[in-house]
Amino acid sequence: MKFKLIAEYFDKLEKITSRIQLTSLLSELFSKTDRDLLDKVVYLIQGRLWPDFTGLPEIGMGEKYLIKAIAMATGIKEDEVERTYKSIGDLGEVALSLKTKHNEVNILSFIKAPEKTNELEVKEVYDDLAKIATSMGGGSRDIKIRIFVGLLKKASPLEAKYLVRFVEGRLRLGIGDATVLDALAITFGGSADYRPIVERAYNLRADLGNIARVIANDGIEKLKNITPIPGIPIRPMLAERLADPKEIMDKVKGKALVDYKYDGERAQIHRSGDDIKIFSRRMENITAQYLDVVAYVKDYVKSKDLIIEGEIVPIDPESGEMRPFQELMHRRRKNEIHEAIKEYPVNLFLFDLMYLDGKDFTNEPILNRRRALEEILETNDKVHIASHIIVDNVTDLMNYFYQAISDGSEGVMVKSISEESVYQAGSRGWLWIKLKRDYQSEMADTVDLVVVGAFYGKGKRGGKYSSLLMAAYNPEKDVFETVCKVASGFSDQELEDMQTKLESLKRADKHPRVVSQMVPDVWITPSLVAEIIGAEITISPLHTCCKNDRGGLSIRFPRFLRWRDDKSPDDATTNLEIQEMYSKQLKKVEEKSIDENI
Ligand code: ATP
Repeated sequence: MKFKLIAEYFDKLEKITSRIQLTSLLSELFSKTDRDLLDKVVYLIQGRLWPDFTGLPEIGMGEKYLIKAIAMATGIKEDEVERTYKSIGDLGEVALSLKTKHNEVNILSFIKAPEKTNELEVKEVYDDLAKIATSMGGGSRDIKIRIFVGLLKKASPLEAKYLVRFVEGRLRLGIGDATVLDALAITFGGSADYRPIVERAYNLRADLGNIARVIANDGIEKLKNITPIPGIPIRPMLAERLADPKEIMDKVKGKALVDYKYDGERAQIHRSGDDIKIFSRRMENITAQYLDVVAYVKDYVKSKDLIIEGEIVPIDPESGEMRPFQELMHRRRKNEIHEAIKEYPVNLFLFDLMYLDGKDFTNEPILNRRRALEEILETNDKVHIASHIIVDNVTDLMNYFYQAISDGSEGVMVKSISEESVYQAGSRGWLWIKLKRDYQSEMADTVDLVVVGAFYGKGKRGGKYSSLLMAAYNPEKDVFETVCKVASGFSDQELEDMQTKLESLKRADKHPRVVSQMVPDVWITPSLVAEIIGAEITISPLHTCCKNDRGGLSIRFPRFLRWRDDKSPDDATTNLEIQEMYSKQLKKVEEKSIDENI
């Protein structure tokens, strides 16, 4: 399979934004893809070489090296490449333009015809890119450049454009996971009817390449029997939110398992023999940050073939009390890990089990999963099962809620214990409902929104970013719709850090997955997620979230609370959740006015 085909499809994909067209083009590409390359092509479309959770490095070659490589591959002087870059502002386009020029010069001067005989193969491109990504240590820079120059020399102008974009980490095809799933279902199942099967498989094994490999080797029917395997993260089950305990009890049909809701870092722990891995809420491999937790699992969990889930919480070693979750941030800095492990000890509170000794537990009711978890665990002062009770009335629920809060928890997780209470990987449903401490605000909960644009400040903050255009995720359309512009809640340090955070994400035009009427000073590639609290949700003509004839939904007086590095843009609060919060708020206002009128 020639890389030319991929470059041509990238070129077409880049020019369209309609989800339907994207899916059908992608499906066309999949049907032309060699089966043994399907997984690699899926990764390339996502602008990566392998899934994040492998912890393997991606390429990310800086501008300077790319300029050098383009110069070496085309024989054009570096300063001319730089000049062209300054005028075009996009290294992919620079590569396309200079390769075209180079080929023309070659033809005119009869030096040689552009290399046609030796067209790039997809496998060769992938293998070379993988070599570039993984070469480390002394001399690796030269090796990386040499390999890349080799690729660029063989590439056609269009191929060069996409090779450069890929290596730069800016492929910008605007294709989310959901679109890839649709295209796989259509191509190999013949219709969108296969979408739920492909999606379920992806929820249990959050690796699109793995799913593509199963389809390529065994056919799409095999996806029906897919089970989780240790080593590939499961997409986490998520909770709905409600503020009214009576409504909660109704939703769980009168009886529930109620857990403390711990405020720490969600941890999905996989063990296969002596290999223990910990994945975060957004399925990144965070094992290195929690070597102490790895040791707890080795010492206190009996099985060697499992996937379990819990919350890692910082603990005061003296009093045993829970500490603010921000303390876990110290563990993000690689060179301070060993110090941080000593200085900020943690406990593990386990709340679920999804796989044990070869058996898929995701389809088991929650009480079976909990029992299995309890059986393999030797609890002690470091490893616990989440504190819980079973309740069948509002009074018991609320008493337990107050106890949870006075013990330093955020609230409780109310979990249905019906026969249908399976582990719903990758979805937010009413089987789990969170009831949190009140935020002293009209809004019952905070929301997690994606940064899609930024505005410069005035006066003292002139020339620096000082407010952000925030968006919710629309999973149906796989786009981000704006909800508010947030300008308050940032500390001086956070504002300072924001400048660097945004710099590498800024872009000249709106990202294809962003739907916005507002035009910010700078567009930002959707990547950063922030937790926002506001006074209330209102209808606004300025925003595009849940937009209809009356306008969109927006958050009034939004305030930044913190960055949510543990969430990816697709994990942000959805348009439907905002819609639901808005409806709840209306209901609350109605009830209040009825009460006041009585
Ligand atoms: P979400 O994960 O639902 O998108 P979020 O990350 O903003 O939301 P919260 O709204 O605070 O977090 O609640 C969900 C999180 O609560 C879970 O992702 C998990 O990390 C945490 N949690 C703490 N205790 C429990 C528990 N006993 N059962 C399930 N989740 C728990």
